[in-house]
Amino acid sequence: MARPASPITLQPGDALIIVDVQNDFLPGGSLAVPRGDEVVAPLNTLIARCTRLRLPVIATRDWHPQDHCSFHARSGPWPPHCIAGTPGAAFAPALALPESATIVSKAVTADVDAYSGFGGTDLHDRLQAAGVRRLFVGGLATDYCVLNTVRDGLANGYAVILLTDAIRAVDVTPGDGQRAIDEMARLGAHPIASVDIRNPA
Ligand SMILES: [Zn+2]
Repeated sequence: MARPASPITLQPGDALIIVDVQNDFLPGGSLAVPRGDEVVAPLNTLIARCTRLRLPVIATRDWHPQDHCSFHARSGPWPPHCIAGTPGAAFAPALALPESATIVSKAVTADVDAYSGFGGTDLHDRLQAAGVRRLFVGGLATDYCVLNTVRDGLANGYAVILLTDAIRAVDVTPGDGQRAIDEMARLGAHPIASVDIRNPA
């Protein structure tokens, strides 16, 4: 008989990383992730739990200039999205970010893109300063910014918990999302539904 997986319990040293839950990535946005809005409810529940336990909550965001290299006009792969200061770049209104949340902006210059929250940002320094050792990661999109943030988190030495009910994929090629989940698990991330994460006794 297989040994039951050890339960995941929130504890000091944990942090919640919310990846790119911005209007342009939600249904109706310029680069909408199918059912992207469904990540908000489970993330809000976890935000409340982490806030109660005084665990850091960090929200990353794409924060592009108008002539960003990832846009079609510059032969990039994507339509214009998350242009700094526009409504499309704002966090989803329903996302209940606390005042204490740390905002990490990425890909803020025209010629550099970053799918990872660690890409060209001070995220690692901030986590180190806060004594963080384990990351709970959810948001958008599974097959791009979540995948790359998880990959860099593991490479930087963090344990990573992937919130399977709080991620959604672009699926440019059908199956991309599942392949990304498989890849993150292979690299050492622990996939779990947020409802199965326990509070400390
Ligand atoms: Zn972008």
